[in-house]
Amino acid sequence: MNEKKELGIYIHIPFCKSKCYYCDFVSFANKDEFVERYIKSLKSEIQKEDGIISTIYMGGGTPSYIDSKYIKEILEEIKKKNNLQNPEITIEVNPGTITEKKLKDYKEAGVNRLSIGLQSCNNRILEQIGRIHTYETFLETYKLARMCGFENINVDLMLGLPNQTIQDLKDSLEKIISLNPEHISVYSLILEENTKLYELVVSNKIKLSDEETERDMYWYMKNTLELSGFIHYEISNFAKKGYESKHNMNCWEQKEYVGYGVAAHSYINKTRYSNTSNIEKYLNNPEESRIINEIQTDEDMQKEYMLLGLRKIEGISIGSFKKKFGCNPLYLYKEELNKLVEKDLIVIDSDNIRLTNKGLDFANIVWQEFV
Ligand code: SF4
Repeated sequence: MNEKKELGIYIHIPFCKSKCYYCDFVSFANKDEFVERYIKSLKSEIQKEDGIISTIYMGGGTPSYIDSKYIKEILEEIKKKNNLQNPEITIEVNPGTITEKKLKDYKEAGVNRLSIGLQSCNNRILEQIGRIHTYETFLETYKLARMCGFENINVDLMLGLPNQTIQDLKDSLEKIISLNPEHISVYSLILEENTKLYELVVSNKIKLSDEETERDMYWYMKNTLELSGFIHYEISNFAKKGYESKHNMNCWEQKEYVGYGVAAHSYINKTRYSNTSNIEKYLNNPEESRIINEIQTDEDMQKEYMLLGLRKIEGISIGSFKKKFGCNPLYLYKEELNKLVEKDLIVIDSDNIRLTNKGLDFANIVWQEFV
């Protein structure tokens, strides 16, 4: 009998209360008039998938910005059409958009993981990056979430923010660790063109921390979180044992997922697809808005498996690579791996290929070998 494959589902909710200054995600402020039609389109796009749904991730945008009745409707639609086996169901929420009623509705709809966007506990920094909330608003959201019974919470923080010092980071980490969340993600700020922050930086109105300070922050953050009982399991992600994000782990292990909504990506049958990022095109015909980005050859898949797998701190299992592709990565990538070992960027032990500490700082150089 054929075993059903496991699949992840990603749902993109592109609405936000206002646009953060650093944001170049596909997200829209002041487009509330589209919400109802968007949900209708999403529901029409959701299909019966040929597999068992093991994770559902609702990201954005700010999924918590819209009425929680829509979140319930989307999850009901997925359940109606698919075989769900106790999936991890995550929703991204932002402080300033959450109420007790919304949280209760999420719980009732089966959401079992919250990811709260905080970025920093320093209100001055939050204001400078255009976040709509303060640290105190976050605290209310966090406490409300615990009160409503959420036992798996991620908090998002950022490094390299405008005028952020190590002391700011230290303070943020202390505050968050004392709340005891199950998961913490810490991403470095990437300055993207076409953002308000980019304009502010190029016109010298705001200064970002230099690369060296940013790396110091990274190592301070890594050491502090590890000493506080968090497992560093991916370059930017830390979790208490057993609370690693299943949805993201599946992506890093090149498992299949389907994305619904504007700009959502999918990976099915060796093919990477994406939906249009034009919301009006999407609303007019969601099913037709999907384009193929890449049909992978075996060689493409193998390289991508290396690239994604090296994001994980435990790296790539040589045994799993052999099982999946029927060949040994040590022979297949002999030259590339030798070069990276010589530069002390990766280490190879009995079954694993993984980044060294130096490799964590220069991961881009490692990935270039597998592009
Ligand atoms: S809340 Fe998130 S998606 Fe929305 S503008 Fe801010 S960073 Fe972008």
